[in-house]
Amino acid sequence: MSNPTFDLQPRSVAIVLGTRPEIIKLGHVIRLLGAAVNVIHTGQHYDSGLSDSFLETFGIADPTVYLGVGGKTRGDQIGTVVSTLDEYLGENRPQILVVQGDTNAALGGAIAANAREIPLVHVEAGLRSRDRRMPEEHNRVLTDHLSDLLCAPTDVSEKNLLEEGISQDRISVTGNTVVEAVLELMPAGTERLSLLSDYGLERGRFVLSTFHRPENVDDPDRFASILTELAALPYPVVLPLHPRSMGRAREFGIADKLEALKVVDPIGYREFLGLGAESAFLVSDSGGVQEEVSVYKKPVVVVRRSTERPEVLGTFAELVEPGGIVDVVERWLSDLDTLQQSLETLASPYGDGSASARTVEAIREMLSRG
Ligand code: UDP
Repeated sequence: MSNPTFDLQPRSVAIVLGTRPEIIKLGHVIRLLGAAVNVIHTGQHYDSGLSDSFLETFGIADPTVYLGVGGKTRGDQIGTVVSTLDEYLGENRPQILVVQGDTNAALGGAIAANAREIPLVHVEAGLRSRDRRMPEEHNRVLTDHLSDLLCAPTDVSEKNLLEEGISQDRISVTGNTVVEAVLELMPAGTERLSLLSDYGLERGRFVLSTFHRPENVDDPDRFASILTELAALPYPVVLPLHPRSMGRAREFGIADKLEALKVVDPIGYREFLGLGAESAFLVSDSGGVQEEVSVYKKPVVVVRRSTERPEVLGTFAELVEPGGIVDVVERWLSDLDTLQQSLETLASPYGDGSASARTVEAIREMLSRG
């Protein structure tokens, strides 16, 4: 336990973030830290639908710095975060720096903190897909090994870290902060009903889908196969499409396949959660969606070569390659009620909604030790 009389200094905790999932998963940590926090936005997701609306939803007032890395290559993004942050941290030294997840912002922030000898905290540490083709896997491994405090969401992620030789005293098992985001921001029943009517959908008789991973949308055959399978599902499919994925569909000449789907621009977090909770099931390549469904108890077909979230496999999630979606869906639809009832009885492996409080407690303890 940290010393309860220990006060965090104003702006002593720098939080570096750059994308939608980082805002979602750090929102509560930022709120709990209050005036102690200084939010630094790298601008990786610079689109207003992917960033501003999320900052607003989580009540994050204007972040201090926009490093403007959006639209660059991965190496350039990481390099730009490191060099611009290095300059900023030289003039505005925090006591501690926090990053989250597996983005270029996280790795850039981690290297910049390390170069300035600023203690580093990694929220959502220890996830492993063991798929070296994924840039995210390299980002998370490197970030973990640079970190002084690793907040692992589950025992599985803690074990991954221990197996890589990271010492137990650097690890704190906190749960995943996404659980409290879902619990707090899930719209109430009446709001969900009006969402359904806005979209012209029937409760439990539509599919919510997202696709944006390069392994799927940068490969014309995989992307075309996914869109063909989505169109073949017996329910309408709502597909909030990442601008990157839309660009690829046009470039590959497969945009006509989108016509059979309800394609919309990326939607706000509350809306996404509300639709997810009212859907029959989800089909996605997102990381965060795999965790969220375990809180609102829906099944998701995960279309990827690998996952770093094995905790939900065989319960809330089924992992398939493109071409395998329809088989899983047919199996589920043969007795969706029984599947749904069994999911209702399962607790989320990602915790009970106290991960942000545990993370802040671990940060306070680290700072109070000096
Ligand atoms: N999401 C959202 N609106 C959308 C699509 C997704 O709010 O139109 C949320 C979703 O609930 C999840 C997060 O965005 O929490 C996932 O972001 P993304 O797929 O970009 O990242 P990943 O989780 O794969 O790292």
